[in-house]
Amino acid sequence: MPGYDVAVVFLSGRLAMCIKESSSNRSHSSTEESPAGGVGATPGVPVSVTITRPDDWHLHLRDGALLDGVIGGVARQFARAIVMPNLVPPVVSTALALDYRRRIHGAMRRADVDQTAFTPLMTLYLTDDTTADEIARARDSGLVYGVKLYPAGATTNSAAGVTNLMAHCVGALGAMQRLGMPLLVHGEVTDADIDVFDREAVFIERVMVPLRHRFPALKIVLEHVTTREGVDYVRDAPGPIAATITAHHLLYNRNALFRGGLRPHWYCLPILKRETHRQALLAAATGDSGRFFLGTDSAPHLKGAKERDCGCAGCYTSPHALALYATAFESAGRLDRLEAFACRNGPAFYGLPVNGGTLTLTRTACRVPPEMAVEGGSIVPLAAGESLPWSVAA
Ligand SMILES: [Zn+2]
Repeated sequence: MPGYDVAVVFLSGRLAMCIKESSSNRSHSSTEESPAGGVGATPGVPVSVTITRPDDWHLHLRDGALLDGVIGGVARQFARAIVMPNLVPPVVSTALALDYRRRIHGAMRRADVDQTAFTPLMTLYLTDDTTADEIARARDSGLVYGVKLYPAGATTNSAAGVTNLMAHCVGALGAMQRLGMPLLVHGEVTDADIDVFDREAVFIERVMVPLRHRFPALKIVLEHVTTREGVDYVRDAPGPIAATITAHHLLYNRNALFRGGLRPHWYCLPILKRETHRQALLAAATGDSGRFFLGTDSAPHLKGAKERDCGCAGCYTSPHALALYATAFESAGRLDRLEAFACRNGPAFYGLPVNGGTLTLTRTACRVPPEMAVEGGSIVPLAAGESLPWSVAA
């Protein structure tokens, strides 16, 4: 697709969370090839793909009415998710993480999600004041799986984030290294003099390299990696390191922000990058390195918080995440790599078992709803109103 206006996949303007547009369901096994000339089939493209039930290794569930509104869409596809701690106020202690976990279970009950169908993996929000004792409490709880580093001011609700990692967090980082607690990194510097498109590359140079050097055995996840520099660093760095990749960074380049006008629902942080970076991400996600895995960074905001003078960052993708990822993997001709990326690499890094059960995608068009009602307003999902070529089978 030369020119790459808005990358590959919105192919023919078809795109969705899955309101199926046709019902040509076929039986599925692992990947079922389409017969030549089959109705609606594309030669060489499977008509269905069955994978182990996947996990989302980077997710914003929010709280209150938003949490109630989004939890069902998550649990329909994912068995587990690493739940981000950037609430107001942030989840800075194990006690707050366990309270939040109870509220998630409450939301699951109200949404009729079976309590065993979805497991929230809780995280702490690292601050300048996080102690080694708090890290030990988190580990002992058996319910906290990572500690999130937000450089102060990097994204939504990050005002309480770290101001200087090496000056203030050495005690906490040492405890994390000792106890095997992963550090989940929002990898952007926030200095006003750094171009917003360069923030990740500069972060690697200024923060990641010294951090790796000082704590060589610390488990690190570079969350929502968006650049060729990030991918190269994670693939080749010494020590236990991995990265999550969002569906929107696999499918879109920065042109999507300006397609026909200003498009707030494509605005996220880290921001969409140039096409060369998108291609590097797609190669990493579909390649052989086990260091890359699925993290949607699905980040719901009420419509009014996105469509305004100073709109919030974040793309809401949870309900149609697997359809988006399958579309990206199909564009690279590597649907065979989806299972490793979505189901196996993440558990291997976190030292957790692979899920039981399966999820089947069919090559059946589904339409992304224009918006989704929640108490107090609505959320506009990414690619609202468009049609995607893949659907999650019921
Ligand atoms: Zn995030």
